[in-house]
Amino acid sequence: MFGGKNPEVLVVGAGPVGLFAALSLARLGVRVEIVDRQWRTRAHSYALALHGQSLQMLGELGLAESIVERAYRVNSVGLYDASDRRAEMRISELGGPFPFVAVMPPDQLERVLERALEQCGVKVRWNHEVARLVTRTNRGVSATIHRLQKQSTGYAIAHTEWVVADTAQLEVVAEVHNPPQRSLPEQVLSLLAEGVVLTRAKLRDALAVKNERLGEALESLERAGRLRRTQGGWQRLD
Ligand SMILES: Cc1cc2nc3c(=O)[nH]c(=O)nc-3n(C[C@H](O)[C@H](O)[C@H](O)COP(=O)(O)OP(=O)(O)OC[C@H]3O[C@@H](n4cnc5c(N)ncnc54)[C@H](O)[C@@H]3O)c2cc1C
Repeated sequence: MFGGKNPEVLVVGAGPVGLFAALSLARLGVRVEIVDRQWRTRAHSYALALHGQSLQMLGELGLAESIVERAYRVNSVGLYDASDRRAEMRISELGGPFPFVAVMPPDQLERVLERALEQCGVKVRWNHEVARLVTRTNRGVSATIHRLQKQSTGYAIAHTEWVVADTAQLEVVAEVHNPPQRSLPEQVLSLLAEGVVLTRAKLRDALAVKNERLGEALESLERAGRLRRTQGGWQRLD
């Protein structure tokens, strides 16, 4: 799909966070691709507020100036009870290189980031939805991506090293290539590679084990401080 060359990192989602992540990686020389299921940058109706620390991060990529010049600067925030002004937060007194909140339409921030990415030779692939991720032990991650047309076409890319994505919204399936000699806890740990969160049901399916056996392995790993239970599933701690 990506001109025959798999990316080292596939970023899923071209919102502000995905675009920023892709740009940071591209600037570091990482071969990155970014996809989004939307047709283009969205025209959001709300006002995006960027705080000083976010502006500092954007400044590290040389983008703060072009963002600040598009933004409305908020120097203080007043708190009202009906028409009585009860308190005031003076952001201008916080110090730092950006002692204000920069307010702008979100699509403008996204366009600045998208343009900077294009200058690094990375184009956002709009209309592309990541439908499935498969983690492969020591072999990166495979992603099934649907190109959204009138009838969507699903196709798979071979593998990426890492995937930057909100995995809570995706089906993440783990494939174990070398399971036979390893203990169940070891297999669980290798499936939960860095950043991967899997529900008990997903782990059970991937490992093809009985619920009870898996439960014992999870509990022992939890007691040993190697795993923790989160809302989205199990996550590795080390
Ligand atoms: C109703 C609402 C009002 C808000 N109001 C404000 C506000 O007034 N001020 C403010 O500063 N912030 C506001 N926010 C917060 C702001 O929208 C978020 O902080 C910001 O958009 C988060 O950026 P993001 O890149 O993490 O996610 P998003 O902007 O949500 O981007 C995620 C992208 O991932 C894509 N995606 C998701 N899954 C897949 C997939 N499987 N395959 C391909 N693409 C995928 C989506 O299409 C989307 O484009 C608001 C949020 C909401 C929901």
